[in-house]
Amino acid sequence: MAESAVDTIQGLIRDIPDFPKPGIVFKDITPLLGDAMGLAVTVDAIASPWTDMGVEAVVGIEARGFILGAPVARALGAGFVPMRKAGKLPAATTSATYGLEYGVDTIEMHLDAIRSGARTLVIDDVLATGGTAAAAATLVGNVGGHLLGFGFLIELCFLNGRQNIDQHRIEAVMAVEG
Ligand code: AMP
Repeated sequence: MAESAVDTIQGLIRDIPDFPKPGIVFKDITPLLGDAMGLAVTVDAIASPWTDMGVEAVVGIEARGFILGAPVARALGAGFVPMRKAGKLPAATTSATYGLEYGVDTIEMHLDAIRSGARTLVIDDVLATGGTAAAAATLVGNVGGHLLGFGFLIELCFLNGRQNIDQHRIEAVMAVEG
């Protein structure tokens, strides 16, 4: 990716200390999403490692994974699948519960969301402890999808989240070391 694209993206992500809990530095991507050029380069940067991979389904994890995942799916010529917090999806689901950097949560996906064997990419904004991503891998596996890997905007490297999903390919636009 061009140096200027990384600079554009980095310059539009805001650190919010002590949100949603003391000690957490929240990566606020709303300035990036609100900037026309920032949004365009972000979607391109997340999609570009996967262009030749024959991606058929892009899973976006609620909520910022929806915002980034849907345009990435469009860019890759794939369909979009929402992975949602418990109780939000109307049809039959598969679910997984996991630990967060700040709490515990359950995510669900429709049982019929991904065709068996479909080449699947999971997208989220931030890789923190990797609990969410590992749960997403479980759900893709539960429905028989072929998980190609994960695309993130930001990897918080100091939390070692990639060790929870290290059997899969991981691409992150930005690495935050500490
Ligand atoms: P984890 O399961 O710990 O990898 O957490 C990943 C999920 O929590 C992602 O959906 C992120 O949106 C969110 N998240 C975790 N830590 C942060 C952070 N420091 N800033 C923004 N979002 C975060």
